[in-house]
Amino acid sequence: MFDLTGQVALVTGARTGLGQAAAIALAQTGADIAAIGSQEMPETAERIAAAGRRFFAIKQDLGLAFDAAELIGAVKGTLGRIDILINNAGIIRRNDLADYSLEDWDAVNDVNLRAVFQLSQAAAAEMVRARRGGRIINIASMLSYQGGIRVVAYTAAKHGIVGLTKAMANELAAHGITVNAIAPGYMETDNTSALRQDADRSRDILARIPTGRWGTPDDLATAILFLASPASGYVTATTIPVDGGWLSR
Ligand code: NAP
Repeated sequence: MFDLTGQVALVTGARTGLGQAAAIALAQTGADIAAIGSQEMPETAERIAAAGRRFFAIKQDLGLAFDAAELIGAVKGTLGRIDILINNAGIIRRNDLADYSLEDWDAVNDVNLRAVFQLSQAAAAEMVRARRGGRIINIASMLSYQGGIRVVAYTAAKHGIVGLTKAMANELAAHGITVNAIAPGYMETDNTSALRQDADRSRDILARIPTGRWGTPDDLATAILFLASPASGYVTATTIPVDGGWLSR
């Protein structure tokens, strides 16, 4: 029920952090991996090769205009198919509401929401054509539920991810394609390095996590494996928190 042998997964933002851990875990479970990022990702390539799977990296800044059908076509052309899409790439920009620029608003929403819509639309079209079903998994956030501080664009985009997930799931269920999101809690990645370096914020955050520790990329990758696998066929349109209990505190 968890074997992905013969399948192809496309992971955005697989150079570092949660996306890299997801790509490696999917490869170790049998999938060949395509990845999109704005930079080269040699470490990810090496680790997927070590798992014995094929790897195809596409260099594309998802904050710029792009042709999603062309990117999905390149994945199909190189690896033969696409079964799983992990929309993980994301950025965060912090500023007070009064000073929050339209440039930052657009940059965050372009990568965190617009690119997710575009890639999901193009990947779903290919999955529907192939008639094998599929899996789309979007990375949400605690800020899909809460407002956060000094992160208006990120909060808006991550709330949007939950709605987009439900809307796409409803349309794609008839094609055997599930669409779900995962909401990571506070995880140890580059994305949270500023928070972890701020002694006061870091102490406050840790004190509120019932499990008493920050999450790791591997904590998230295992949840992604469940949603990517045949085991989760009746799970769709939902967002699963992987947060050490943060939301219930
Ligand atoms: P990260 O280590 O900073 O990784 C972000 C990834 O996104 C990078 O691999 C980066 O690849 C890619 N990316 C960023 N901008 C891009 C762009 N313009 N075009 C293409 N790719 C781009 O952070 P992370 O923590 O793993 O974050 C992954 C996801 O989890 C994000 O959606 C984030 O919002 C979400 N999240 C994280 C946490 C947390 O605690 N860490 C909590 C909740 C949600 P390149 O450098 O190659 O562009």
